[in-house]
Amino acid sequence: MLCKTRCGHFATRSYADAHGGLCRKCHSNFASLVELEKRYGEDALVEYWYSAILTNLPESKEEMKCFISHLIDFYQQKLIEIPSKQRYIKKMLYMLQSVLEPSDMETLR
Ligand SMILES: [Zn+2]
Repeated sequence: MLCKTRCGHFATRSYADAHGGLCRKCHSNFASLVELEKRYGEDALVEYWYSAILTNLPESKEEMKCFISHLIDFYQQKLIEIPSKQRYIKKMLYMLQSVLEPSDMETLR
């Protein structure tokens, strides 16, 4: 039986429970972001989101929205857990907020 996941999609309850409340697709997105960070460092991840903002999300926007708000929750939690990474995490949160509300980017140009 399918349930609504934290990312706003659907997955089996057991899958969502085992994968942080995410559906299959979002969990694989999430895993590749974690992998990117691990392999190429934090700057690479910031650049990834920056280019996502500039290209205005090629993927279906509505579908990404829930996933991004999940990421925002994730980083807000990290901000509490790892205060030493505050600068990086705040930058990530800013990037993610900008993906959700691209109009804010106007002020940066
Ligand atoms: Zn999802």
